[in-house]
Amino acid sequence: MKYAIVLPDGAADVPLPQLGGKTPLEVARIPNMDWVAGNGRLGRFVTVPAGFTPATDVGTLSVLGYDPHVCYSGRAPIEAAARGLAVRPDQMVFRCNFVTIRGGLMQDNTAGHIRQDEADALIAALAAELADEGCEFHAGVTYRNLLLLSDAAGWTLRLAPPHDIIGQPVAAHAPRGTGVERIARILERARAVIAGHDVNRRRLEQGRDPVTDIWLWGQGRPAVLEPFAARFGPRAAVITGVDILRGMARLMGMEVIEVPGATGYIDTNYAGKGEAAVRALDRLDMIVAHVEAADESAHMGNAEEKVRALERIDAAIVGPLLERLAASPEWRILVAADHPTLTTTRGHSDIPPPFAFAGTGIAAVERAPFTEAAAERGGYWVTPAHDLMRIFVGA
Ligand SMILES: [Zn+2]
Repeated sequence: MKYAIVLPDGAADVPLPQLGGKTPLEVARIPNMDWVAGNGRLGRFVTVPAGFTPATDVGTLSVLGYDPHVCYSGRAPIEAAARGLAVRPDQMVFRCNFVTIRGGLMQDNTAGHIRQDEADALIAALAAELADEGCEFHAGVTYRNLLLLSDAAGWTLRLAPPHDIIGQPVAAHAPRGTGVERIARILERARAVIAGHDVNRRRLEQGRDPVTDIWLWGQGRPAVLEPFAARFGPRAAVITGVDILRGMARLMGMEVIEVPGATGYIDTNYAGKGEAAVRALDRLDMIVAHVEAADESAHMGNAEEKVRALERIDAAIVGPLLERLAASPEWRILVAADHPTLTTTRGHSDIPPPFAFAGTGIAAVERAPFTEAAAERGGYWVTPAHDLMRIFVGA
């Protein structure tokens, strides 16, 4: 059996006035996704269980068949896995953003999309100055860096994601739990290192806002996940432009296929991803193709761009995969959104997203297009959401 899974990140939405009261999935010309829904099972599932923040990490864990209650330990450890960092048993992994805090308010959770050379210089300075605090800083992509902190593995901490508190007083979101004194000291020392650094002198000369602070969040211990092949059977690979999916794939023992021009943004290389996905099926049982573009368009509040992203995913990835699968004696395909990203709020939502799967041994039931409303009308629920993978692979 050959399997394909296509994950258009954040594809689901709500009816939008700028689309005549329709959702992007309803407006987009997506004949291949519609074919999957109309010739198989169309349903909905709660990818983000109650108590979790709707995000790609939790949503995708559910879609790929892992219970977030058991398998989710934070965003930072997944990113550490993506970068192949070795985490010692006594260390806690934190996401370390560069941010700008002004007048006690979180002004910018990216420090003005800090340039890579600036971030690298600041991370090097922090690593040198704060080594005696048990801090191990790792540079990432611009504002998205990691901190491995020693003697902190058992901590229970509540830290706010900085993108959720923009414009709000940071004092209201101060760390709570064990280890807060040490966290406060690290933040304070980091503030001093950053304030006195050449990077900020140059930014001020250029009329740019300063970097003021690091912000720690998304912490956890590395999750140990049962390998996907042992759990479900198929040997799988993932194609993605984002570290969260890369990290999850590594933790699940899946291969990660890097496609040139896979940016994790709306300008991603759709055709390259489609071709790589088709090629991978020659030597593997399953390909998971993840595309971030629909999610990014919704975060920008751009409905037309979201429609365009869905159409490109359909034409350049789902279409070629269906063609390739049809050449195999036995095959199945699944299309699923990890969570809705609402163009109205520009944020993620915990509304249950739709999924559709079709192929060998799966009878057509709904004869409906791949839309939120059709999935709701059909009334097919998979609960809990992580059961879907077992149903899909027939294990
Ligand atoms: Zn997502």
